[in-house]
Amino acid sequence: MRTARSSRTPKSDRPLKLNSDDFIGCAEADIDYDETHEDGCPGSYCGCSKIVSVEIRRVSIDSVIYTAQEALKKYIGTVSYRDGLFGYFVDRIVTHSKLRVVDYWSYKVSRGYYGEECTVFPNEDVVSELASSLLSLAAQKSLKGKIKLVLKYEYGYILDEVESANSWTLESIKIQDVIMGALHHYKKLDRSIVHRYKNYDLPRCVVMKRGEKFAIIDGYHRLHSAKNSGEKKIKAFVGE
Ligand SMILES: [Zn+2]
Repeated sequence: MRTARSSRTPKSDRPLKLNSDDFIGCAEADIDYDETHEDGCPGSYCGCSKIVSVEIRRVSIDSVIYTAQEALKKYIGTVSYRDGLFGYFVDRIVTHSKLRVVDYWSYKVSRGYYGEECTVFPNEDVVSELASSLLSLAAQKSLKGKIKLVLKYEYGYILDEVESANSWTLESIKIQDVIMGALHHYKKLDRSIVHRYKNYDLPRCVVMKRGEKFAIIDGYHRLHSAKNSGEKKIKAFVGE
């Protein structure tokens, strides 16, 4: 437990427990072994195998999200976790955390019964960073507070219209009613990201109500993925 708890975090009799070891198994690595037997080894099922090289290939973002969600559930309690739509917000925080990048992961080689073994885990500082973001999220009691927190986390600032919106609701809206526009937070579409959201059942966008239409604030990739799958409606957080 390396998370510094700030005074803004809610009182809980259980601390938020999250450390690097919790994420073992969430990333894949290519490992090359040297299978040469040592002198006098009878061969087969021995411990001679040595690791020559390790390359961390890919992080399973869904596994990281799962681990983060389980830790937060233990911290705030399963019931309030479900009520607060935390699943969505944890998904957003993890998606934009450094844990998604292989550069922030390391490995250690240890001696196992059948030779050397490799364990891949995220660096302790990025895990601490994630834990403190989850604590900030847990401290937000309102939907507005949670929406603002994840937008700030992703973009570094909050748009004035988001700041001044008084009501936020989760609604099912028609994709054709969403105005894309060349807004300043427009992001170039990344096909691989769109693909990740193919079977995404969480809310897909944050939008602002504009008369009968909705201006998109966040969720560009998730919206496009729904559109590509032929969906007509999406769940979105609507502010007005
Ligand atoms: Zn051997």
